[in-house]
Amino acid sequence: MPAMGSQAPIARSLLAWYARKGRDLPWRRDPNAYRVWVSEIMLQQTTVVTAIPYYNRFLRRYPTVRSLARAGEEDLLAAWSGLGYYHRARNLLKSARIICREHGGEIPDTLEDLLALPGIGAYTAGAILSIGHNLPFAAIDGNIQRVISRLGSLRGDPTKAPVRRAIAGLIHQLMPRRRASDFNQALMDLGAMVCTPREPRCPVCPVRSGCEARRLGLVDSIPPRPKAGGALAVEMVAVAVRRDGDCLLVTRRDGSINRGLLEFPLAGFSGEGDARELAIRMGARLVGRVGHVRHTITRHRIRIAVYDARPSPAGRRRGGGRRPISLSEPQERLSTGAGDPSARWCALEEIAADQGLPVSGTARKIARLLMRPGRRLGQTAGPV
Ligand code: SF4
Repeated sequence: MPAMGSQAPIARSLLAWYARKGRDLPWRRDPNAYRVWVSEIMLQQTTVVTAIPYYNRFLRRYPTVRSLARAGEEDLLAAWSGLGYYHRARNLLKSARIICREHGGEIPDTLEDLLALPGIGAYTAGAILSIGHNLPFAAIDGNIQRVISRLGSLRGDPTKAPVRRAIAGLIHQLMPRRRASDFNQALMDLGAMVCTPREPRCPVCPVRSGCEARRLGLVDSIPPRPKAGGALAVEMVAVAVRRDGDCLLVTRRDGSINRGLLEFPLAGFSGEGDARELAIRMGARLVGRVGHVRHTITRHRIRIAVYDARPSPAGRRRGGGRRPISLSEPQERLSTGAGDPSARWCALEEIAADQGLPVSGTARKIARLLMRPGRRLGQTAGPV
């Protein structure tokens, strides 16, 4: 275990600072394990500022684990719409149902039971146990890795097992057993507000007198900077098939990513010919090019060329092996044949809005592109 300043004063200083300067976050008001769980799942791939309005809406709609367990998947995805990474919402739903079925509606308070739930890993379990149940468990996220690595002058990669073990050991040395909840949240806030990745504010840090990295002049090199991973460029086309002005055709995804969400018909290529073929498969014809949107998922930098299309009377005849949808039918839900299980007409405003429909992030961006001035009635940026 590395040398470090005396542990009790470090914890005392940190907790006193947290009492004065800790962030006022909605999941910290009247906290319980359910709220901690929902907030931690939302924060996995979302910043605090972005998550707050979604969290407030979600808690109004599903205030308890039992209300969440009763939710329909489509309603839940609509409540999650805009946050992305929808597997998080599906796992919340599955876990809520297991908790009601197997734990009497109480969020488990053992590591073993929590890790058995879908979507809950070591960090989230530690957060629920420590912050939600005030039990002495570590919850080691990136912020806490950095803070503890600097406090103890741990020079290795904090994502690797030996350093992770050392970090967990230091946290357990420092943590006052009855203040696990406040202690872990104080570390999180210190990492977010003071001991930041670049230019940490050491002169105002409440634990500076016990910080080994500061004493040794190693603050800028701990933790070591990760090597940048290469981004992958992906080109796609989307067709916006319109009828009746601003009514657009969307399909429901059935793949592993964004399953169940509504999106515009998409194909993984970039040329106009690909867009034309996609339109034909949807029983439509291209009428113009609208522009493009960009979207990032993990390392994928996606550029989607968007084309305007109209229902084609000849669509049925040109559909080839795939059965194209009948765009003349007035119903809201249409069968589109193999590989494209459902489609429906939705108002452009509904697709572009932040709540209501379970819509993918790319569909929302495309809808907003279509809503820009001069595009509402289908004016295009160029002919095809
Ligand atoms: Fe981080 Fe500086 Fe505080 Fe050490 S003194 S914990 S490096 S902010």
